[in-house]
Amino acid sequence: MMADEDFLLALLNTTPVIDGVPADELDDAARGRSWLAAAGGLGTDAELRHVAAARRALQAVVRGEQPPGALAPVLAGAVMHPAVTGGGIAWTLGVPPERELAVRAVLAWDSLARHGPGRLRPCANDECHLFLIDRSKAGTARWCSMAVCGNRMKARRHYQRARNAIHDG
Ligand SMILES: [Zn+2]
Repeated sequence: MMADEDFLLALLNTTPVIDGVPADELDDAARGRSWLAAAGGLGTDAELRHVAAARRALQAVVRGEQPPGALAPVLAGAVMHPAVTGGGIAWTLGVPPERELAVRAVLAWDSLARHGPGRLRPCANDECHLFLIDRSKAGTARWCSMAVCGNRMKARRHYQRARNAIHDG
C-alpha cells in the first residue's frame, strides 16, 4: 500500500492535462476501479464514488477555491479506535471499507497541512492541473516537475524576453 502522502498526491494528480486536453484517470469506471486496486483499495464502484468526491473537495481546497469545510462530508461518521500496544497506542480508522481510501486521503491532507503548511500546492504553470508536495528545504518548489513545467515556463519567459527585446529595439 502506498504511503498516505503519496496516495493523496497521486489522487490529486489523476486529472492531468494531456496535449492540451484535460483528462480524468477515474472517469472511466473500469480504469478507475483498477487505479483504486493498484493504490491498495477495494476497486469497487462504491469506493470509486467516495474517492472521486474526496478528490473534488481536496482539489478545490488545495487550489483555495473552497474552505477546508468542504472536506467535512468525506469524514462524516469516521472514528479512530485506540488500541494499547507494547509501544504505546495505535489508532485504527473506523469507517466502512469502501470509504477508507477517501478518508485516508483527507487525513493525509490534514497531516501535510500541520507538518508542512503550504507545502501541498498546485503547479505554478496555470495550464497544468497537477499538484506538488514541496519537499525542498527552502520551500520554493513551484512546478509539478522541473523537467516538464519548470523548463516549459523558463522557455516561455526566455521567449517573451527575446520578443520584448526585439520590440524595444
Ligand atoms: Zn505542472
